[in-house]
Amino acid sequence: MLLQLTEPGMTSLPHAEDVHKAIGIDLGTTNSVVAYSENGQPIVIKTRNGVSLIPSVVSYNEGITVGVDALDQLKQDPKSAISSVKRFMATPSKPVYQDKTPVEISADILTFLKAQAEQSLGQSVTHAVITVPAYFDDTARQATKDAAKIAGLTVLRLINEPTAAALAYGLDQGIEGIYAIYDFGGGTFDISLLKLTHGVFQVLATGGDTNLGGDDIDEKIVNHWFGPSENWRQHQLIARQAKEALSNHETWSDGKLHLDLQTLENLSLSLIEKTTQICSQVLLDANLGPDEIKGVVMVGGSTRMPLVRAHVAEFFKTDPLTDMNPDEIVALGAALQADGLTRGSNTLLLDVIPLSLGIETMGGIVEKIIPRNTPIPITLAQEFTTYQEGQTALKIHVLQGERELVDHCRSLGEFILSGIPSMVAGAARVEIMFAVDADGLLTVSAQEKMTGISQKVEVKPSYGLTEDDLIRMLKDNSEQGAADMQQRLLVEARVEAEGLIMSLESALKVDSHLLKLEEIAVLRQELEVLKETVKTNDRDQIELASKKLSENSQNFAAMRLNSSIYQQLVGKTI
Ligand code: AMP
Repeated sequence: MLLQLTEPGMTSLPHAEDVHKAIGIDLGTTNSVVAYSENGQPIVIKTRNGVSLIPSVVSYNEGITVGVDALDQLKQDPKSAISSVKRFMATPSKPVYQDKTPVEISADILTFLKAQAEQSLGQSVTHAVITVPAYFDDTARQATKDAAKIAGLTVLRLINEPTAAALAYGLDQGIEGIYAIYDFGGGTFDISLLKLTHGVFQVLATGGDTNLGGDDIDEKIVNHWFGPSENWRQHQLIARQAKEALSNHETWSDGKLHLDLQTLENLSLSLIEKTTQICSQVLLDANLGPDEIKGVVMVGGSTRMPLVRAHVAEFFKTDPLTDMNPDEIVALGAALQADGLTRGSNTLLLDVIPLSLGIETMGGIVEKIIPRNTPIPITLAQEFTTYQEGQTALKIHVLQGERELVDHCRSLGEFILSGIPSMVAGAARVEIMFAVDADGLLTVSAQEKMTGISQKVEVKPSYGLTEDDLIRMLKDNSEQGAADMQQRLLVEARVEAEGLIMSLESALKVDSHLLKLEEIAVLRQELEVLKETVKTNDRDQIELASKKLSENSQNFAAMRLNSSIYQQLVGKTI
């Protein structure tokens, strides 16, 4: 796979002036926000009603309605519109509402956001940076890009939400170290640990609870006022109003209902403690203590609560960053990134791949091609060869994970490179190239160098990797590392021995006339010894027997080579 070059000056890439108003989009579960950059300053786009939060709700009753109007319909009749479609992006083509898929519904939200931006900016908008949760896998990321494409938006880059929040605070220009992004919204809680080195953010660990947010606090208030009831959602609006007011006041009342700050704090304490428990688990997974965190960025509307701020400050032993609007910060970071990308800024290597990528080699071993935590975009290639004499095809099985054996890693897909001309084992030169683009999507290609035949696949795993899977896979690795390595070395020794046996046996079949009878007998005997040893689990003995056989067959190999060169030269004039 070679890079394509166009004639100088004829590049089809967008010129800076074509895309100078690329926008940043925080495509949220509950709300979405759009922002753009002006003279390096990110600015949030407001709707006609003067608000920046656009509900991620769509109704298909009379045409397509998105945002506040769709939310109004949803409130009147929960069946009349669809919300929280982002929760289903792991299975993007499975219909979730009427016959609409998550990709189509997301595309409708993005179409609306694009139109809002165009109206506000007075010009057409074609390019965007869109944020996704750090734990979104390839499928969900690809689905987000597909939705943008349907909406007529070219995605300059997908970036992780915590990375965008860190960018909004300019942390990429600041002190290197590890930062925590504490994101407490309406329906979800996410905590991410980012490591900043040389302007590159690396996601060290993520954790969270997809059902923990401000809504749960609202529910506690409703229960406090009315007792447990099925239809607490009807009262939620008022509870929310009281809760939000108490971020700035000591008491709240609407004449009939009352709430004071102390009561609110008593009601919400256990929920807030749950978030710091998750933080503590994530730190544990990453082998870090709270005192190793340089700073904490607060994201999401619920971080406006004084009790949340106090708890976070106490847990991390540092005052969290709260200067920016926690609802807008992700979109603002995305807008900065969009601006940087359209101006061709190069300091934007921001994310890393979360799990190593590799292929299966003989014996069910995984050969890593791109190690975990490599900054993206990245392209790395490695040469492989055939194992058997006359082998004309190669199976390329792509895997993700830290463990040494195929069975312990996650299979991302496989393809076959066929049409390799028949050659002796080890003669073919197959270059396998892994390219992960800036959005975290992987393309694997394979090319046989002598003939030029090639194959390529885009790897889109068919099922999602949840953040729990990710944490488990990383944890398994650190627990099993040493045992895995021993197992790998044993398998490698076996594969090498078996290769040696196979090639010597086939050489003896064809060329034994080059040897004396007693030489043949010696080689055959050593072959038998190696065949027996390979069946054991004794790596040292296998390696020893292989070494002996390969030393003793060197002479034979040299004779074969001479004879083959001679054969080729016969009858040719030089
Ligand atoms: P998000 O999902 O980030 O838009 O956050 C929405 C959540 O933030 C809702 O539960 C809101 O009630 C909550 N929220 C917004 N403003 C405030 C505030 N001033 N005080 C407390 N919670 C707030």
